[in-house]
Amino acid sequence: MVDDIDDLLDEVEKSLGKPKEKPKTYITSTKTDDLSDLLEDFEPPPEPVVAEKIVTPDTSTPSSTSDKKCYPLYLGGTSVPVGMSTGVTVRACNELRCLECDCAVITFEGFHWSDNTDYLFLRNNYPVASRLRARLNPHRGTRAYSCQCKQRSVNTATQLAADPELKWVCGKH
Ligand SMILES: [Zn+2]
Ligand SMILES: [Zn+2]
Repeated sequence: MVDDIDDLLDEVEKSLGKPKEKPKTYITSTKTDDLSDLLEDFEPPPEPVVAEKIVTPDTSTPSSTSDKKCYPLYLGGTSVPVGMSTGVTVRACNELRCLECDCAVITFEGFHWSDNTDYLFLRNNYPVASRLRARLNPHRGTRAYSCQCKQRSVNTATQLAADPELKWVCGKH
């Protein structure tokens, strides 16, 4: 009788499709965790770094020695010989040009400009020496410089850089 009931119960369970309870197996995943940790710890190889091209000053190009210009640029009195200045030799540049009026700078040895020599006078009389003489006074040791817009009376060697008002440059020798 008891066996029959057991059999009956088995039959019922089968018909209901209810599987007999089985011991569950828990798969510990410590191994995979360790692996993922290991992968995280393992840093990817760094990207290949392309070294920036180091730009070195081009020393193959020779400095422009063909353009012979005064450096530093000097004005000077009559005691200062005219010519081209170098770092060693001081010369009063005799190839001056004015960037402002685009005229050559002319000189008068042993003369000094009158104080009233203004832009208008130079504009009207440059470069005629006989007319400019009206404002030129003899003065020993002084060299009078003039373009069409500005004038200077110079006694000693003077670097032109010290006179920013003058836009005179060396026009090559
Ligand atoms: Zn010069
Ligand atoms: Zn000028």
